[in-house]
Amino acid sequence: MNERVRIVAIIAAGGQGSRLGAAIPKQLLEIAGRTILERSVAAFASHPRIVEIVVALPPEVAVDPPPFLTRYTKPVRLVPGGVRRQDSVARAFEAIHPPADVIVIHDAARPFVDAGTIDRTIDAAIDGGAAIAAMPSPDTVKLAREDEGHARVEATIPRERVWLAQTPQAFTREVLAAALALGAQGGSGTDEAALAEQAGCVVRLVPGDPRNIKITTPADLELARAVLAHEAGRERYDMAVRVGIGYDSHRLVQGRPLILGGVSIPHATGLAGHSDADALCHAITDAVLGAGALGDIGRHFPDTDPRWKDADSVELLRQAVLLVRQAGFTIANVDAVVVAEQPKLAPYVDAIRERLADPLGIDAGAVSVKGKTNEGMGETGRGEAIAVHAVAMLTRS
Ligand code: MG
Repeated sequence: MNERVRIVAIIAAGGQGSRLGAAIPKQLLEIAGRTILERSVAAFASHPRIVEIVVALPPEVAVDPPPFLTRYTKPVRLVPGGVRRQDSVARAFEAIHPPADVIVIHDAARPFVDAGTIDRTIDAAIDGGAAIAAMPSPDTVKLAREDEGHARVEATIPRERVWLAQTPQAFTREVLAAALALGAQGGSGTDEAALAEQAGCVVRLVPGDPRNIKITTPADLELARAVLAHEAGRERYDMAVRVGIGYDSHRLVQGRPLILGGVSIPHATGLAGHSDADALCHAITDAVLGAGALGDIGRHFPDTDPRWKDADSVELLRQAVLLVRQAGFTIANVDAVVVAEQPKLAPYVDAIRERLADPLGIDAGAVSVKGKTNEGMGETGRGEAIAVHAVAMLTRS
């Protein structure tokens, strides 16, 4: 491909968009914080093969353009649009200087055009003179005729032959000049490709993109906003690194063993609870589930369920790790603080780390457990309870 070909984009934004019923031109309505026009222009401003952009705007907007139109690194010219779309495109075409080899025309009402569609259209135009992005029709198309006030089917068009035109539409300078000359002589078309056809040029079809929708009605606008909101959510969900927090506390009572992190610790009292009351395992389990946004320990292992009575909490942790693995994550590391006035945890810390490494599926070097007193304050400080805080980091596997 000869990239010394000078490619200029025309954004047709001259229409008033009356079908949306808004007080301002539809291209100036916002979707997720950016106007439809800004999104359309940005697609071309960020495309490496486009060297210049000409935007045809409603005359009242062209004299007082939105500030974003002045902030691109490549030249952006603004021209007042005409009555018909083809008039706007003709004015934009005249404003291109120096002349372009290939002109890519895009409808501002299609803010989701992707770089691949732009590339396919440009390449086919360089090769064949004119090309438009289009989608094969998913629906059967009926040709209709008015008959006594009712629409009736005149014919069914073979679906394989029906393509629905999108933009961009790209033309070599000669082809677009011929199409616009035909328009100036009274010819009209809903797009430049129609004029090019009428001028006797071959117009190629290249695959468009199903997301490259035209925003025409309030329903389209609603759909576009919903899609972007969903994608913003997805992006956050798809983040490569996730963090979760967990907390648990249990009372210390006579006659129970003290188990922390799956390790039995000799002590006069132990933690009270439905299961083995291993607060360290419980806090880490909640941190792991939290990082995966998979709920909490009570949801997966309710203490009303007899299956979990006196359950080994290390096994609950193993189950939680399995759940986040199924959701596509791997544990990266875990850190925990055990708040206990007694006993001193230090002698058991390494054994606990080794014990937890197995259900977590990581090296003991990525498991951290720290003991802390509460300086005599509150229930933990009086030795009546043990509390644990934990964080877990997950990575997408
Ligand atoms: Mg608990």
